[in-house]
Amino acid sequence: MLSPRFRSNHATDPMSEAHVRVTTAFNKMLSIPGATVASVEFTPEGVVVGLRRRKSRPRCPCGWKGTGVYDTSVRTWRHLDLGSSKLLLRAQIRRLDCRRCDRVRTEDVPWARPRARQSRDFEDVIAWLAQRTDKTTITRLLRTSWETVAGIVERVVAEQVDTRRLSGLLRIGVDEVSYRKGHRYLTVVADHDQAGRVVWAGEGKNAATLEAFYDQLGETGCQQLQAVSMDLGAAFKKATDTKAPQARQCADPFHLVALANEAINKARRWAWNLERDKARQAAARAGAKRRGRPPKDSPPPARDQARWVKHSRWALLKDPDALKPSQLEVLHELRRSGSVLYRCWQLKEGLRDLYRLADPADALAHLDWWLAWACRSRIPAFVTLSKTVRDNRDRILAAIELGLSNSKLEGLNSKIRLINHRGYGHHSAAALIAMIYLCCGGLTIKLPTER
Ligand SMILES: [Zn+2]
Repeated sequence: MLSPRFRSNHATDPMSEAHVRVTTAFNKMLSIPGATVASVEFTPEGVVVGLRRRKSRPRCPCGWKGTGVYDTSVRTWRHLDLGSSKLLLRAQIRRLDCRRCDRVRTEDVPWARPRARQSRDFEDVIAWLAQRTDKTTITRLLRTSWETVAGIVERVVAEQVDTRRLSGLLRIGVDEVSYRKGHRYLTVVADHDQAGRVVWAGEGKNAATLEAFYDQLGETGCQQLQAVSMDLGAAFKKATDTKAPQARQCADPFHLVALANEAINKARRWAWNLERDKARQAAARAGAKRRGRPPKDSPPPARDQARWVKHSRWALLKDPDALKPSQLEVLHELRRSGSVLYRCWQLKEGLRDLYRLADPADALAHLDWWLAWACRSRIPAFVTLSKTVRDNRDRILAAIELGLSNSKLEGLNSKIRLINHRGYGHHSAAALIAMIYLCCGGLTIKLPTER
């Protein structure tokens, strides 16, 4: 239904009446804040909707309202598609000489973020999708380029990230994240008391990177820190020693278990060489003596043991509860044959038991028992591991005492790996940092339909 006003004005011109109908329909449908639809044009590139601004003084993105206009130009913004057609918003945009910024700036418009060439609604949909799905899905669904998506994510995060996220931090976790196929690193800081939410991310993985975070936190913020969990490396320890010496340092269990798994892999190669040599010697001896079937009670041929070593990788690394029957059989076979690898597995699980104790008060005794066992094991990889564990003994125990299980940070790690896998990881550090804030910083993006 047309309003009586339109009918009286345009009743004599059917074309004009149709035109009013179209603009009114678009006006209602789009309800662009701060503007009304003045024209609708169907072009090969899509539906171009001309906007007429409501009269107001130009406003700088900093918030200052100007009185004079420096100059005016026409700008186009991509809006959400209309069926299969692209929808473009077009309006005059003014520049003003901002006294607060002390330079000429483009005014802020209600329907788009500063510097954007897409409307706020379009950007919010992209950001919402980027939290949930992969690059190809977004670029194909919304017919846009990946560079555009990356720029949008950076803009949305800059606007929505909580500026107070660094205040009142008590217990934090620090970790490094690799990107560009492991050639570059970011340092990520998460808040243990906020479900592992990322509060800071910076380029690099050395002491200086973390010191930059502590500097941003300020002296008071650093003094408030009660605990910092981190890997067993020296870089984060050094930065924390200098900037927040009162905070208790905790060794992240995830990293300790990872070191134990690494030791297993090293021991496997070591043991494989050992068993292979034994097999060769045995073959040489058998060749020198008589041929034929070995007696029934003789130990299994050393050649088989070498094979077990080769095929034991997952049996040794996986959580015992998650082993498949075939992998369990490998483990039994290693035990029966008295393989050194079975002892490696026991040592690894013995260290993991530290985090499965019914009473955390037993941790000290358990760790010392394990250290004594490992350093006398005569397995080079585990002797080395025992030295690292001894150097970090207090930090390992502090993690158990304070209950900083870091499962949240572990989740964070896999989430960041997932971001990489979705195809977001191959860009600049700034783009990846923005993605990490978007997906792990506790940001809630509201869809245009939810506002
Ligand atoms: Zn300004």
